[in-house]
Amino acid sequence: LAQRVKVKDKQDRATVEQVLDPRTRMILYKLLSSGKIISIDGCISTGKEANVYHATGPDDTALAIKIFKTSILTFKARDKYVSGEYRFRQGYCKKNPRKMVRLWAEKEFRNLLRIHTTGTIKVPHPKILKSHVLVMDFIGEDGWPCPLLKDVKFNEIEFDDQPEQNGGEQLEQGGVESNPVSSLLANLYKQCLVILYRLFKHCKLVHADFSEFNLILKDNKELYVIDVSQSVEHDHPRSLDFLRHDIKNVQEFFGKHILVGDYKDIFEYITSPTVDDSNCDTVLDGILKNAKKLEAFNVSDEVFRQTHIPRKMQEVVHYERDYEKMKKGETELVYTKIMGMKSDMSGPEVVNQPQESSSNVSD
Ligand code: ADP
Ligand code: MG
Repeated sequence: LAQRVKVKDKQDRATVEQVLDPRTRMILYKLLSSGKIISIDGCISTGKEANVYHATGPDDTALAIKIFKTSILTFKARDKYVSGEYRFRQGYCKKNPRKMVRLWAEKEFRNLLRIHTTGTIKVPHPKILKSHVLVMDFIGEDGWPCPLLKDVKFNEIEFDDQPEQNGGEQLEQGGVESNPVSSLLANLYKQCLVILYRLFKHCKLVHADFSEFNLILKDNKELYVIDVSQSVEHDHPRSLDFLRHDIKNVQEFFGKHILVGDYKDIFEYITSPTVDDSNCDTVLDGILKNAKKLEAFNVSDEVFRQTHIPRKMQEVVHYERDYEKMKKGETELVYTKIMGMKSDMSGPEVVNQPQESSSNVSD
């Protein structure tokens, strides 16, 4: 890939140090002198909120060091992710940017650790957290970082073996010509949906910045999730807004190239209590079988995006009104599924009955 830069051998300690404040330099110095890090190599990325460097650890392990920046401007905007978080209920200091970045780094570390410990999603293993400096596994090979999904040149990939057919099926069913690239894209699309499901169901998190900018493609086949500092608990007051946005990003990225599943069905697949590990594959396959062109969903998606989705029973204050509206076809009761109710609100939806799994999807 043309854009890739080998960072391992780029010993630009001078430039590294130039942009770092004395505190950060001290933290790095201690990591180096204690032998936790052997060397800090080239810069992988300079962003608004963090810089990421390649480093080498003991036994020649490849590491990535993410250094969060003390920049008040961008961190202000992150308020919405932190307030409302149970984990930060004791408040956090908006006025002290240094405390803010530390909190932010800690959030990323804890989220990475939780995802890594759950073990069903690929993330870089977080190794060390010192203030606003986070050390994790480097996702790359031989000092070369693997590309972000957004930078992958799909047409330049050389497919040596038969491409994995997994996930390519729905393309043929949709009448779109199948080739190795679209098979790979379909496979990656499916991986994204599975990751969102597992984040929500296994890790109890919503990524909240899930997109081709925060997914690394390893060996042209496996997606790693990064950048989880803004991720929130699944019961955060705005988690479902964030999730809808995450789904939208996935739909729009892949919808440019391949057929995509129904927006609302995907949302239900991730959030509905009637979908769990016993039937998730069946549900997802059902969604992918009915994949369509992205444009096909626009109208109903608009309705869906504007629908308020309550998190708790107390929030459903107007359910009778909404129910009447729904009968008249004026609105859709999207909250029945997420709350685990039957669609006519006559009682709880029965969970965990594999023989009924297909009716759970379609009704
Ligand atoms: P931000 O977007 O806030 O600047 P990210 O966590 O997304 O921070 O990291 C910025 C960039 O650094 C990523 O886009 C990716 O290219 C690179 N990167 C981050 N973590 C790793 C890692 N563990 N291994 C390899 N590259 C990484
Ligand atoms: Mg990022």
